[in-house]
Amino acid sequence: MKKYTFLDLAVVNAPYEKAMTEAVGRVITSGRYIGGSEVAAFEAGLSAALGVDHVVAVANGLDALRLIVRAYMELGRLKPGDEVVVPANSFVASALAVSDCGLEVRFADVDPDTYNLDWDKMPCGPKVKAVMPVHLYGRVCVVPEDIRQRYVVIEDSAQAIGARGACLMGHAAGMSFYPTKNIGALGDAGAVITPSEEVAAVVRSLGNYGTDRQYHNIYMGLNSRMDPVQAAMLRVKLAAMDHENSIRRERAGIYDAHINNQLIELPKMPDDPETHVWHQYVVRVADGRRDEFRRFMESRGVETAVHYPCPIHRQPCYASRYSGLSLPVAERLAEEVVSLPVSRGTSVDDALEISAIVNEFE
Ligand SMILES: *Cc1c(COP(=O)(O)O)cnc(C)c1O
Repeated sequence: MKKYTFLDLAVVNAPYEKAMTEAVGRVITSGRYIGGSEVAAFEAGLSAALGVDHVVAVANGLDALRLIVRAYMELGRLKPGDEVVVPANSFVASALAVSDCGLEVRFADVDPDTYNLDWDKMPCGPKVKAVMPVHLYGRVCVVPEDIRQRYVVIEDSAQAIGARGACLMGHAAGMSFYPTKNIGALGDAGAVITPSEEVAAVVRSLGNYGTDRQYHNIYMGLNSRMDPVQAAMLRVKLAAMDHENSIRRERAGIYDAHINNQLIELPKMPDDPETHVWHQYVVRVADGRRDEFRRFMESRGVETAVHYPCPIHRQPCYASRYSGLSLPVAERLAEEVVSLPVSRGTSVDDALEISAIVNEFE
């Protein structure tokens, strides 16, 4: 029986192997293993690719978000005890970035059509000072203008690199280059992007021990820098960002056109296709039949995944604190969502075959 793997990173990286090998060689012979021209060139490349003024390369996506929160604290815009709104249907890192800095998370419910933060249900109150919209699954979470005026808006763009409008609807955004992301490194890597020179400077300093010049520390910072090896890998991959995203968009288009099964609810296509980069193609199976559907797909050779099986406010590390909180859409999504394969490793024919298999589920 033919196997359809969910995500094979060796296949994803195969077209870049030669260029990546050369790039690693360049780093080895450079003798520069922290910072230097490779990281600077990656920052310049990302800045050009996304059309943002300031890019700071950091160690991973969680640190990108943490450093933004810390920077706003150092700048006096946020302080311990302030509340930050975070959608409950996300990867746990969105909330951890807030909690780790001593701020309070206010979990928000999400929109059942976009899976993104539902602004109509946004928690408010005098202590809410910031909001972290997540462009979940690669779909832009549009931030209303009044929200941008009222709050510090820190975007979690980890899944949405290259989505039109995703990376900088607010004041700063965190990106991740974790290997499974649309543009993935060969290890951990992340970046902060912002139009603010001031925020960028504080983030850069905080990620380098709070240093402003050598052996002079103005903040109690941390060590969160992108390795030149990862920067070199990412320079190779970044050049193909639009191409990689178009591959995912094509797979999503095939599912949208060919899956036709009343038991399977498809994600809504955005009006502007460029506003979605399909980090995941997430369908819904209602009536408690999600796991049955996954077993059926597995029996036909198709690997699926669940993003995410537990909303963040129900994770053991948060559950006792938020036990009284009910967020019905996020809680229902956690029981119904299934991700179908959309990476380069899934060919057009594979996507057509997978669609036919989905249509056989009854
Ligand atoms: C991957 C991811 C992160 C964290 O990125 P890392 O590089 O793994 O630290 C944060 N938020 C979301 C939504 C993610 O998908």
